[in-house]
Amino acid sequence: MERSEIVSNLDTVRQRVAKAARRSGRSPSAVELLVVSKTWSAEVVSHVVESGHELLGENKLQEAELKIPDLPPSVRWHFIGRLQRNKARKALALFDAIHSVDTLRLAAHLSRIAGEMGKTSRIYLQVNLDREESKGGFSVSQLREDLPELLSMPHLYIAGLMSIPPAVEDPEKARCSFRKLREFRDSLESDAGVEIEGLSMGMSHDFEVAIEEGATIVRVGSSIFGPRIQKGLS
Ligand SMILES: *Cc1c(COP(=O)(O)O)cnc(C)c1O
Repeated sequence: MERSEIVSNLDTVRQRVAKAARRSGRSPSAVELLVVSKTWSAEVVSHVVESGHELLGENKLQEAELKIPDLPPSVRWHFIGRLQRNKARKALALFDAIHSVDTLRLAAHLSRIAGEMGKTSRIYLQVNLDREESKGGFSVSQLREDLPELLSMPHLYIAGLMSIPPAVEDPEKARCSFRKLREFRDSLESDAGVEIEGLSMGMSHDFEVAIEEGATIVRVGSSIFGPRIQKGLS
């Protein structure tokens, strides 16, 4: 895709994000746009950075390691893929936030390594609401059980919950999954007496519905860069 086309897609997505936020009675600044750059070269990705967008998402560590040095250091990177524990240190060095923390063990490991690195690991807890086998994520009951321990980890900051609902043709059909994640977040907050602000939900196909249901960060790739040739969804 041409540079001008990517820049214009970005602009359109930004406007749609802002409109959906206003429709749901929130300020557009309450919703972050994470531009998912997986599978696209640094050169392609640089078009969005040059037009002022500096929040990008990647789902593979190896790919990110090669791409990140080729883009300006002002870019903030979020990791959205499956993370193996032995890659935690690398992920913490490259990424400002990890959206896909799906076990207590991984969280404990991230907290420990972040401590060694003298930082705090900013994470989203991935929830598998529909108990899909192919996807990671805490079940609702597991997260309820693990939350007190997660909250006690010294070098972990729980930014919110994240989900990847099943792909459906009609974005309206995803609405109830998004609503379920918000309601689950609300119930965790009242059970634990803490604030869990963020909701990482919504992708190209359904981000407006996700925003209407309370998303604080949407992860959008193909609406900006066009369809991916490689399958990139993990
Ligand atoms: C690839 C990916 C996205 C972006 O998907 P698009 O449909 O291209 O917007 C969002 N979230 C996760 C976890 C992904 O892997």
